[in-house]
Formats: sequence, C-alpha cells, structure tokens
Amino acid sequence: MADIIQLLPDNLANQIAAGEVIQRPASAVKELLENAVDAGADQIQLFIGDAGKSLVQVVDNGCGMSETDARLCFERHATSKIRSIDDLFRIRTMGFRGEALASIAAVSQVELKTRRAEEELGVLLEVDNSIVKRQEPCQCPAGTSIAMKNLFFNIPARRNFLKSNNVEIRHITEEFIRVALAFPHISFSLNQDGQEQYHLEKGSAKQRIVALLGSAYNAKLISIRESTDYMNIYGFAGKPETAKKTRGDQFFFVNNRFIRSAYLHHAVMGAFSDMIPADTFPPYVLFIELDPAHVDINVHPTKQEIKFEDEKLIYAFVQSALKHALARFSITPALDFDLDPGIQQLPAISQPFTPEKQEDAAKGSFYQTFTRKNQAHFIEQDSNLPHWKTLYGTAASSGTPPAPGPESASPAGGELYTPAEEQPAKAPVQVHTRYILLQIKSGFILIDQQAAHERILYEQFRQAFGEAPAATQQSLFPQTLQLSPADTALLQDMLPDLRQLGYDIAPFGGQAFIIQGIPADMDPGNEQQTLEGLLEQFKHFSPGLKADKRERLIRSLARQQSVKPGKPMEGREMQNIIDRLFACSQPQVAPGGGPTYVSFPLEELGALFGR
Ligand code: ADP
Ligand code: MG
Repeated sequence: MADIIQLLPDNLANQIAAGEVIQRPASAVKELLENAVDAGADQIQLFIGDAGKSLVQVVDNGCGMSETDARLCFERHATSKIRSIDDLFRIRTMGFRGEALASIAAVSQVELKTRRAEEELGVLLEVDNSIVKRQEPCQCPAGTSIAMKNLFFNIPARRNFLKSNNVEIRHITEEFIRVALAFPHISFSLNQDGQEQYHLEKGSAKQRIVALLGSAYNAKLISIRESTDYMNIYGFAGKPETAKKTRGDQFFFVNNRFIRSAYLHHAVMGAFSDMIPADTFPPYVLFIELDPAHVDINVHPTKQEIKFEDEKLIYAFVQSALKHALARFSITPALDFDLDPGIQQLPAISQPFTPEKQEDAAKGSFYQTFTRKNQAHFIEQDSNLPHWKTLYGTAASSGTPPAPGPESASPAGGELYTPAEEQPAKAPVQVHTRYILLQIKSGFILIDQQAAHERILYEQFRQAFGEAPAATQQSLFPQTLQLSPADTALLQDMLPDLRQLGYDIAPFGGQAFIIQGIPADMDPGNEQQTLEGLLEQFKHFSPGLKADKRERLIRSLARQQSVKPGKPMEGREMQNIIDRLFACSQPQVAPGGGPTYVSFPLEELGALFGR
C-alpha cells in the first residue's frame, strides 16, 4: 500500500492554526490593538468597516518596523518579544507567541504600512492568503498601520459562521473596551463605518473608566489600592447602590491583560455579600500586578484564562482589598483619590517594587498580612478585627513596621486615628434626635442612629444562628397572638428561627399562638405588638431582595427593633451604640445597603471654608 501521509502546504497549515487565534473580527481587533500597545504607541486608532467583516484597521504611533521586520512579522512564530524559554516567565508584553499576524494574513487580505521614526521612508506590504503580493517603499507617518480586509475571503465556510453585524460589533466593542481600560495613558478612538464611536483622551484610570462605563459612576466609585511585595492591586468598584441585575461591567486585569476568572469574581462578590441584594453585581475594574513568574498566561491561545501559582492567595488578597476599601468608603470619601497617572504611565509591572515603594507599603497593615504568602490564612482573621480599634486606634505608631505576624497586624486604616490614650474621647452629641455626632481625630462623623442600631442587631442576630439558641426569659403571663391565616403560615415557618433568637412561641390551635418567652435582653410587656410588627416588616421588606427567609427575618427583626428617629438618647446610650457599631464586622453599612454614618474629614471642612 502506498504511503499516505503528506505535509500540509504552508498556507493551509496557517489557515488551520489561525482558527485558534482569529475566530471573528473581534479577535483581530484584540491582537492588533495589543501589538500597538506593545509597540509603545500612545495614540491608537481603530477603524471598523461592515462590523469588521470588510475592514479592521489599527493605526498607531509606536516604534514601527524595519523593512526586514515588516516582511518577517507575517511568518508564524515570528516575534520580537521572546528569545529564550526563560523569557516566557518574564513576559511584560501583551503578545509573545508570534502567531497573530501570521494568522491574520492567512485568513484575509492585509495591508501594512510602517515606518520607524529614524527612517525617511516607510514600507508598504500587501499580503493575501499568506502570500506577499506587493512590497515597496512608501511615505507614511512614523508608526504602523495594519488593515485586515475581507476576513475569511478565502474560507467561505468560516465567513458564513460570522454572526450578524450587531453581534460582531458587540464583540469588537468589548475587546476595544478591555484594552482601553487597561491603558488609560494611551489615547484610543474607535471609528465605525466612518463614524467615531469612542474618542478617549489620555487620563487617569478613573477618568477612563467613567468615559467607558458611563458618567453615572463618577461619584459612585470606591478606589482600591493595596501594595505588598508579592502583588499589588488597584482599581475601582461601584458602591453597593450601583449593583445591577445584569452583568457586564466587571473586569479583571492581571499585569494589564484582561482575564476571565469566575473564581476571582467570587472573591469580589464575597466582599460585597451582605451589602447588596442577591443576584446583583457591582461594577468593578481591578488591576492585579505580580511578578510574571507567578502566573502562567500561556494556557489559552487568546490568553484570557491564566493560571496563578497560588490561586488561593490571590483570592484572599482580592477579597481583603475589597473589604478594606468598602470599610473605608464611608469613613474617608475624601480619600477617594484619582490614581496618579504618573504611576499608570508605565505598566507598574515594568517598574517592579522600588525601595521607596516597598517602604510605603510596609507602613500599611496589608503589608503584614500579605508579605509572607504563608500568612494567607491570617487574612480572614484580620479582616474580622473589631472596627472600634480602627476608630479609637490601638495601631502601632507608623514608621518601622512591626515584625510580621497576626498579633502585630494593625487593623485596617488604624493609622487614621490616634490611640485613645493620646486623645480623650469627646462626648457624642445627638442631633435632631436622629443622628449622633462624634468627633474623631481626622474630623467628625455623623451616625444615623437607626441605621447603626440595625447593623448592630443584624450582626447580633446573625451570630445567634451560629451558636446555641439565645437565652430566653420565660414570661410570667404568657400572651396569646391571634393572626390571619396568611400570617399564621408565615409565623409557623419562622418558629424554629425565632427560637434560635430566644423566642419561645408555640402554636395554640387554629390561628393562635402563645408567647411563652422572649429573648433575655428584651424588655417584656409588648410581645404581641413586637411580633405583629415583625410580621408586617417581614412582608414589606425589600421585595427585590431574594435573600433566604432567615436573612429576611433577621433583617426585619433588626429594622423593627432598632431605635427610631425621634428617640432621645443619653450620652451613655449613644456611646453604647458607637462602641457596638465599631465592633461589628461591617460597621459602615446598614443591612439594607445604605451607609450607617458619613464622615467629614478636616481637609474637606477646611476646603469648605476656603482654607
Ligand atoms: P507577537 O505579538 O506575539 O510577538 P504578532 O504576530 O502579533 O506576534 O507580531 C509579530 C511581531 O511583529 C511582533 O513581535 C512585533 O515585533 C511586530 N509588530 C506587530 N505589530 C506591530 C506594531 N503595531 N508596531 C511595531 N511592531 C509590530
Ligand atoms: Mg501580538
């Protein structure tokens, strides 16, 4: 029998390989934009024709290519970005496989014009179906323009697989947004069939996010920024009220590369957990930077899925950074800083930790938690430190960092406040029988008494479910409760949970119940009203909230039993609320998501008075 194995002709091999890299116009958009970024451009224009089916063109003002390089760049595995296998572990560019241009050239008609700044003339190259059709010197601006025309003109079967223009445009826009988000110091534009859809000036990360995701977010972003010598994170997340039912505005970048990670998404959602309704998603744009040696970006041809050396650590880091930022957002709105564009200029990965940066970071409490990665298990513990320490401060004086370790880890934000010994606490003042005004070192805060009390009760009740049932005081004169059929069913359902909270209620035949005991710390006398009020509250509680029944019960109870506006409070009572609030794990938000207090930093006050 004759031999049957044959070598594939080059262009066919290229076409097959291209299938992995170039699936649709948006894939080319991503690759071409990334090449322009890698070329050091600070101005990148994208032109789209017929949803990318007839044209995807990227024009940049980057380094350009020599004549030889222009010819070589279309060869498979032609790259200027790695030379040895070791380089793979130090990748700081977006591309490195040397496949994109070869793939694009295999499935379309390409026109390349490129010129290096030091050269007088540039070069023009036309490549069809991997074959060079034309090469000649040309006049062109410094930088590179690559136009991919008539995608899949030579592979009709694949052309037929392209989706409607709307769908393809959506994919293109997504890729454009991802690259543009990661590089705010580069100006980008997107021109679709002759119309400019985006025009993004250089700016800060926050400006870029607002430009891309909408100005509605402008005042609603919390900034996140934590540095350690293992990794850094910075970026923004929406305040709890920005959470939406639809997903889409969630972005992770690792060393400026957009990645998908359900695992890290889960970490973020965990930080928001009891601040937003179930099934809603806050927007976030988070940049993680770490030594490329700790990530494997080579696991997926389009590099959207990557592998971390220590995934759990990254998870804990991301979650803690978010919790930290969320905990601070209502304390320090004035610190909602714009990221320094100077830092953005160079992807921080190309400027690894300097001694000064390291020293800065060492002062933060995060340093102690993350510097040694074997301390990851302390993270949870640390984020649960009672927050009164944050407020009254038991933080070690800043300067030399204490030896790493859980005992010495100062609570998040501790440096903002003076230790109690140094600053006699000023008595809190009630304002309009509704708010509590408290002076702190950095200014003052205004606490909403009801919201704060709700948070306290909420955490207390939640905790009750993790432990033995709360203590009950047996009633000397048990009261009966007569309910409607609907309420009867509702209460019947809640009985086990209520028992856990210290209520002793028993069915008494028909639609009646008998209240034999109430929580030990409750004043006896109006059990009936309390329970009726609770049922009412439960029924009307956040209809949008899809939390489970127990969660709703806890929230309802907390709402119902909290001190209401109009209740005068003595100094002792206010102090009690303050102490208990800052001992909560989430002191800054009420169970419903609103703030429990607002802060007025001295700098802001000074600014108001024009100082
Ligand atoms: P990779 O990006 O993985 O190196 P590509 O096929 O995308 O592979 O590009 C091949 C090479 O062509 C790059 O390594 C680079 O040297 C050069 N190149 C591609 N696009 C540009 C550009 N816009 N400006 C300058 N050089 C470019
Ligand atoms: Mg590339």
